[in-house]
Amino acid sequence: MDEQDEDRRRFETLAVTHGEGSPTRSSAEDVVTPIHLTTTYAVDGLDPEGDLESLDPDAGEYLYSRLSNQTRNTLEHRLAALSGGEGALAFASGSAAIAAAMTATLRPGDHVVAFDDLYGGTKTMLSRLFAERFDVEVSYVDARDPENVAEAMRPGTELVWMESPTNPLMHLCDIEAIADIAHDGEATFGVDNTFMSPYFQRPLDLGADLVVHSTTKFINGHSDSVGGALVTDDEALLDEIGFLQRVGFGNMLSPFDSYLVLRGVRTLPLRMERHEENALAIAEFLEADDRVEHVHYPGLESHPQHDLARRQTSGFGGVLSFELDTGIEGVEAFLGALREFPLAVSLGGVESLIEHPASMTHSPLTREERARIGITDSLLRMSVGIEHVDDLLADLERGLDALDGIETASPPGSSD
Ligand code: PLP
Repeated sequence: MDEQDEDRRRFETLAVTHGEGSPTRSSAEDVVTPIHLTTTYAVDGLDPEGDLESLDPDAGEYLYSRLSNQTRNTLEHRLAALSGGEGALAFASGSAAIAAAMTATLRPGDHVVAFDDLYGGTKTMLSRLFAERFDVEVSYVDARDPENVAEAMRPGTELVWMESPTNPLMHLCDIEAIADIAHDGEATFGVDNTFMSPYFQRPLDLGADLVVHSTTKFINGHSDSVGGALVTDDEALLDEIGFLQRVGFGNMLSPFDSYLVLRGVRTLPLRMERHEENALAIAEFLEADDRVEHVHYPGLESHPQHDLARRQTSGFGGVLSFELDTGIEGVEAFLGALREFPLAVSLGGVESLIEHPASMTHSPLTREERARIGITDSLLRMSVGIEHVDDLLADLERGLDALDGIETASPPGSSD
C-alpha cells in the first residue's frame, strides 16, 4: 500500500493495523507484532562510519533496544497515524513524555503559560523541577478565555501548555485560538490530550505543535500498563525529544508495555464510543436528581462550553465530575453504598472508577487553593467504563438513596 492510500484509511482501520506488515517486525508471517524482548541485536559487520543517532528502524536498523525496538516502533507508528502526526515516541509514562517535551523546549530564564487547572502532577513538575531547579517562570491562567493566554504572553515565553478538558472540573480551552496566540509569540504549543484520546480530539489538526498522551488511560484502556506518548509534525523537535529520551533519560516504553498498548489501541474507537454513551447517560441521570448539586460534563447542554466541545471534538469523552448536595458525611455514605465504582484514582480503563479529588488526586493542594479552583469536599470525579449502563445507573441510585436522612448542603428551597 502506498503512503497516500495509507493516509486515506480511517481511524478505526489505522487503530487495528497501521504499522503491521512493515519492516518494523521480524517476520512477514506475523499478523500481530510480537513482543521483542531482546536488549541487543547482532549486526552484519563493522560500519566504520556508524552513527548511533542515525539508525533507521524503518529500514530494519536495530542495535540496542533502548535506542529502538520493533514492538515500540510499531506502536509509535500507530500512535503517530492516529494523532495525525508525522512521528511519535513512546515513553515509560505520560509524565515522562511531558517532562521530555518541556526539557526540549525550555532553557533557564524562559517563561511558560499554562492552564491553571492542569493535571496536578504536571503542575508539580513545573514548580518543583522546572521553576525551582531550572529557573523557569510559569504563569497559570484561566485558559477558558483565550484572551487570558494572550495577556500572559511576553518576550521569553517559549512554551504554552494546555489540557482540554481539565481534571476534575472539565474546563475546556479553544485549542485553535490558543495555537494562533502561541505562534504569534513564537512559542511552542503543547497539548496534553489524555482525557479525549486521539479518537475524539486531535490537537495537531487544530494547530498544536506537539501532543502528549498518558497511554495509561484511554489509549491502553485496560488499567494494566503505565505509559505515555508524544506526537509531533516538527522533525527538529522530534529529533531533540528523541535524543533526550534515548540518550538523556532512557525513559522509553518497555517492549511488553508497547505490546499491551498496541493490543489496547485496537479497540480504542469502540471503547470511546461506549465510554461516551455511558457517561452521557450518567451525566443526564445525575443532573436530573435533586440530590446532586452540579454535574460537569461537556456533553451536557448546561456545560458552559458545550458549543466549543461540539466544534473542537468529535465526542465528549468518558470522564465527568459532580457535586453531591451534602457534606463529607453524605459523600462517605454515597461512596460506601456503591458496588460498581471502586474508589480509585486514574481513569480511562474499561471498568468504572470514582474518586474524591479533595482527599485523593488534589490533596496536595491546600484547602484555599482547592476552593479557588472550585474543588469542594462534595465533588466526585468518575471515569465511566464500558459496563451495561443500567447496572451503573442502578448503582448510582443505590448511592443516592444512602443520602436519605443525611443533611443536605443547600438550604431547603434553594436550587441551582
Ligand atoms: N496527564 C493527565 C491529564 C493525567 O491525568 C495523568 C495521570 O493521571 C498524566 C498526564 C500522567 O500520566 P502518567 O500517570 O502515565 O505518568
